[in-house]
Amino acid sequence: MPKVWFVGAGPGDPELLTLKAQRLISEADAILYAGSLVSEAAMTWAKESCDIEDSKGMTLAQICDWLISKAKGNANVLRLQTGDPGLYGALIEMIQPLDAAGIEVAVVPGVTSAMASAAAAVETLSLPEVTQTVIFSRVEGRTPMPDGESLEELAAHHCTLCLYLSITLLKKIESALLNAGWSADAPIVVVYKASWPGEQQIIRGTLSDIREKCKLAKINSQAMIIASPTLGARHWSELKKSKLYDATFSHRFRKAERT
Ligand code: SAH
Repeated sequence: MPKVWFVGAGPGDPELLTLKAQRLISEADAILYAGSLVSEAAMTWAKESCDIEDSKGMTLAQICDWLISKAKGNANVLRLQTGDPGLYGALIEMIQPLDAAGIEVAVVPGVTSAMASAAAAVETLSLPEVTQTVIFSRVEGRTPMPDGESLEELAAHHCTLCLYLSITLLKKIESALLNAGWSADAPIVVVYKASWPGEQQIIRGTLSDIREKCKLAKINSQAMIIASPTLGARHWSELKKSKLYDATFSHRFRKAERT
């Protein structure tokens, strides 16, 4: 049965591809990759004869036709997507026509840009007694947000927010978070092209000045915005430590020390 693999290419650094993605790239006869965010370096493992195309200028129908016709021609077909295919990747829209055409599909996860951004900035997204919750979301632009998911409502949880596709909407972010009770000097980190060798930029600021700082740095695309009460924790003198490594806390693999 013909098959198409949807493969997460990770955030940009080719070394952040999974071993599985690397193997599938090296075995593929046809690769359709998703525009500017998939590093071309990811394709260095492709065979000389591999038919590689960028889907940047294609419509959804053209993308599906390309995948279907290659798969029916018995090629080993890969759809390479940035980060993880299950986040803002139009995955199901592409899979439904393949299902209808009787083509098997499989999905390979990838390192999503939120995690690559946190890693680049040496930040944690969860911290004991600070926040134990992460929300992956975006700000309403041309794509409407479902009921109950406005940024203001999400921000009311005061947990970690990783905002995709929203770097041009920093003004909306500022007012939504202020309305939800965040302080104007709450720390914000913006990471441009996280993990891209030689291109990554990390901008640190506050809710009130991050927009100006991004403007000065000319960052208006390919950036992750992280707002979190955990930001900067590396430099805190008082930290609630994880129970897992607490000497007075027993768990499955270790008995508590007597105090
Ligand atoms: N599936 C992707 C997200 C695709 S939507 C993933 O899992 O990461 C595209 C958005 O992802 C961009 O607008 C930006 O917010 C974010 N993004 C993708 N790659 C990035 C990178 N290397 N650094 C920072 N943000 C990135």
